[in-house]
Amino acid sequence: MVAVLKPGATKQQIDNLISWFKSRGLDVHISEGSTHTIIGLVGDTSIIDIELLEAIEIIESVKRISDPFKSANRKFHPDDTVISIGDVKLGGGNFQFIAGPCSVESPQQVLGIAKRVRASGATMLRGGAFKPRTSPYDFQGLKADGINMLLEAKAQTGMPLVSEIMNANHLPLFENIDVIQVGARNMQNFELLKELGKTRKPILLKRGLANTLKELLMSAEYIMAGGNENVILCERGIRTFETYTRNTLDLSAVPLLKELTHLPVIVDPSHATGIARLVLPMAMAAAAAGADGLMIEVHNDPSNALCDGAQSLTPDQFNVLASKVRAVLEAVRK
Ligand code: PEP
Ligand code: MN
Repeated sequence: MVAVLKPGATKQQIDNLISWFKSRGLDVHISEGSTHTIIGLVGDTSIIDIELLEAIEIIESVKRISDPFKSANRKFHPDDTVISIGDVKLGGGNFQFIAGPCSVESPQQVLGIAKRVRASGATMLRGGAFKPRTSPYDFQGLKADGINMLLEAKAQTGMPLVSEIMNANHLPLFENIDVIQVGARNMQNFELLKELGKTRKPILLKRGLANTLKELLMSAEYIMAGGNENVILCERGIRTFETYTRNTLDLSAVPLLKELTHLPVIVDPSHATGIARLVLPMAMAAAAAGADGLMIEVHNDPSNALCDGAQSLTPDQFNVLASKVRAVLEAVRK
């Protein structure tokens, strides 16, 4: 349920109203927009009499929200959420490139790639230390050592870090990781999502291989229900009957999610296509569709990468991508 307040409502009146809602066991979310303050109510709102609420002096209107996601809902929070990651802002017109290797392989590899992608305009460095692999015999990541290599690259380049967590027990290792990624395979690992909801770290939540947008939003809701509102959604392709590409990039997810939610939405064309030469056109398309950022896999030597070499760009290719995407952004913003 949302209550839209009249523009002249005083702080004291708003505080009294909030206490009244809280005394009825409801969670209260305040969104201060440019003209109106909106109070979003989560919990058993069936106990609230809408007519009674509408009679309160400072309330302009009251609406029930039938969508199952509440905190993530744009009706609760009409303005775009802008997430601060160090000095970097994502969302609300702030477009960012996240780039780096699929997996951290060595200190030289990750630092070398970080310097190159930073020079091309990437503002965050990605790198997997814990890798969710289909086969238990494939490279599983360098784990704590990989995290330390990322931290060293951050110390030398100043780039905030994005890395995937697979188990909530590893949270202490992620203390200095700036954005914690939840991979597609864990999108509905609800216990993990609940633990991440207790932190205040930005969470990059990737869409599951076979999950609907509503399910993605409900997973975001799990994190937000714990009080962590810093969620970034990521479209990374879904599994369809098509086999030429690794997944099928669902670009309609971008404008649709931006209607449904105030959370930033980014696109990962690397995992979506699985083919390096398709990453550039899909990155440009994602920018044109209104994405708030891109996550791109970049490797210094893709043919010898320990993971996802076929979809990885070289630093030179990433440089071309970044400048073409900037041109698209400029064109669509005109
Ligand atoms: C990744 O980003 O390296 C990754 C494993 O992605 P996804 O969870 O989308 O497959
Ligand atoms: Mn990968």
